Amino acid sequence: MLTPPARGAIATVAVRGPQAVASADRYFHGLGKLPLADAEVGRILVGHWRENDQQPGEELVVAKLAEELVEIHCHGGLQASRQVLNHLQSAGCELESWQQWNSATHDDAIVAEAHLALPEAATTQAALHLWDQCQGALSRELTAIIALLDEPNFEVATQRIDQLLRLAPLGQSLTRPWSIVLAGPPNVGKSSLLNKIVGYDRAIVLDMPGTTRDVLHATTALDGWPVQFSDTAGIRVSDDQLEQAGIAKAKAALISADLVIVLHDAAQLRPDELDKSLRELPSALHVVNKIDLAGDLELPQSREMLATSAVTGEGISELITAIVEHLVPEVPQPGAPLPFTTRQLDALRDAAQCIEQRHADSAKSALTQLFQATI
Ligand code: GDP
Ligand code: ZN
Repeated sequence: MLTPPARGAIATVAVRGPQAVASADRYFHGLGKLPLADAEVGRILVGHWRENDQQPGEELVVAKLAEELVEIHCHGGLQASRQVLNHLQSAGCELESWQQWNSATHDDAIVAEAHLALPEAATTQAALHLWDQCQGALSRELTAIIALLDEPNFEVATQRIDQLLRLAPLGQSLTRPWSIVLAGPPNVGKSSLLNKIVGYDRAIVLDMPGTTRDVLHATTALDGWPVQFSDTAGIRVSDDQLEQAGIAKAKAALISADLVIVLHDAAQLRPDELDKSLRELPSALHVVNKIDLAGDLELPQSREMLATSAVTGEGISELITAIVEHLVPEVPQPGAPLPFTTRQLDALRDAAQCIEQRHADSAKSALTQLFQATI
């Protein structure tokens, strides 16, 4: 039997063993009056789950997957599914850990992790790449790397681990959106630009500096990738305590961001400041906004330099393209292996370090553990 250690609308309780069908039949009352024992393998039955005939029980779906394997799909959440688990335990079933279940069903822990992560995928791209990991893409790649270590082809093994590590930020964005921070002085158009990108009025736009007091978040998909924008309070000196609290949060958001977009005002553009900003924040995207208010603009030639108008929409699609290119410079092929949890990352970094020190056995065991550990 399996307890799902996650939250969801539906919980799946799997019961296996010679007594699986009999145990479920003790509590399951099918609408068609057909006991599971008499149902053919492959049948899905709808019915009630109850201890006796008096009380109306929870309505649920039971699938007879094999003579000794039954799946119960009941209302989700740990508490709602607990009643089913308790009943089955009183019928003599034993609770099994993920680890035990995985070794019985031949799913390795990485594949199990991918199945657990799949509900967190917020966009099509995220779901497709996670599904590849459910199908064993990462497991196969790690198996190949372990074989290289056996050979001992350390150089190629290292290259392939490095490639996985390069894809790590992308892998992690599959369950957690990329974080993008909009930075720049008050009134430069951060909230307006955010609204234009996300397509709805998420942030308050006011014609007065200092209105965005807190960090505002808006989650959306760009080219199928999940992103979360944070519209920060403009970073400036302020006497207003509330605004200062907002500035502190803005600085924290800047540090942890995957991408920072620095906004400049086209109507008040100072070329020296622009150059300084480009030099000081080379990994940021620099956007000159309000170009509808400026005449002919001469901008420094740079891939990281864009011009927009949050009012007319000019330059917005180019900005979106630039954001995606920054976050996902190289879109992985369908079926590509991607590490997507910190557990996997830690093991990969560990393995890389061990290989560097020529501890092939330690490297192997770091990777092998990924397949077995409890998640
Ligand atoms: P924030 O303080 O950086 O978030 O700036 P806001 O988005 O609140 O914008 C401040 C003011 O500038 C508002 O009146 C906006 O309508 C205006 N604004 C923002 N972007 C543009 C733009 O591209 N062109 C023009 N003409 N006005 C803009
Ligand atoms: Zn704002």
